[in-house]
Amino acid sequence: MDRIAGLKEYVRNPFYREAMGLPGVVCEEYRLLAQGEYNMNYIFTHPVSGREFLLRVNCGSQMHLENQIEYEYHALELLKDSGRTPKVFYVDGSLKELGHGVLVMEYLPGKSLDYRKDMGIAAQCLADIHSVPVSAGDGLLSPADPLRAILEECEEMVKVYMDSSLGDRETKRALRELLDRGCTPEQILEELLGDTGLEITDTIPARFYCNCSKERVEKAVASIGREDIQEMIDEGKDIEVKCHFCNSAYTYTVEDLRQIMHGGKR
Ligand SMILES: [Zn+2]
Repeated sequence: MDRIAGLKEYVRNPFYREAMGLPGVVCEEYRLLAQGEYNMNYIFTHPVSGREFLLRVNCGSQMHLENQIEYEYHALELLKDSGRTPKVFYVDGSLKELGHGVLVMEYLPGKSLDYRKDMGIAAQCLADIHSVPVSAGDGLLSPADPLRAILEECEEMVKVYMDSSLGDRETKRALRELLDRGCTPEQILEELLGDTGLEITDTIPARFYCNCSKERVEKAVASIGREDIQEMIDEGKDIEVKCHFCNSAYTYTVEDLRQIMHGGKR
């Protein structure tokens, strides 16, 4: 409770206690359940009904919404017949008594889904939720191109890591590569050079080309020294050497190694 300044005081407020049917004096205990990037979640047992509830304190919006907690409340209301989402009981997005949005919903016991083995059930959950009919006037956001919207969201979120000096260079490179796969080359150029008046006048297919060959890589093998090659021959196993530039693998048999050592193929 102490992690959120003012939360202890907040749950003493009569408007909260009345709305939740709680006794005038705080006798319920709030235990930290889990904290994510956007929410801090507390669990408490209602002293009158004995039911377990989850009190959510919202600290940010993944969707960049001003009214994040109310939007969430509204969405959960609309989805209440899905059989998959918790029922909601209280929302306060005023940010007046507490600098954060507050939501109370029923606590659904269980464990987090592990997508490595729970993919089937996870898909069923999402299918049930998305099967609930919604109408255009329901006030839910629906991007015209959902996959593009997710990619743009990823770009937004990854910025923190990319801009941080604590980020690992190799990880940054891998992330950039993955994100770029979702973009066309024109989009990448637009992103990098868009404000310089970029104009694409022609396109030609491009491919990576490496002129390595078994013979070329052999020279590298020969350069490691007779002693080391002798050692490999003594081990009696084929060796595999990869090209530094394109990662193509070349195999050399013990016989090949002997010839390399004796300059036979050089
Ligand atoms: Zn190569």
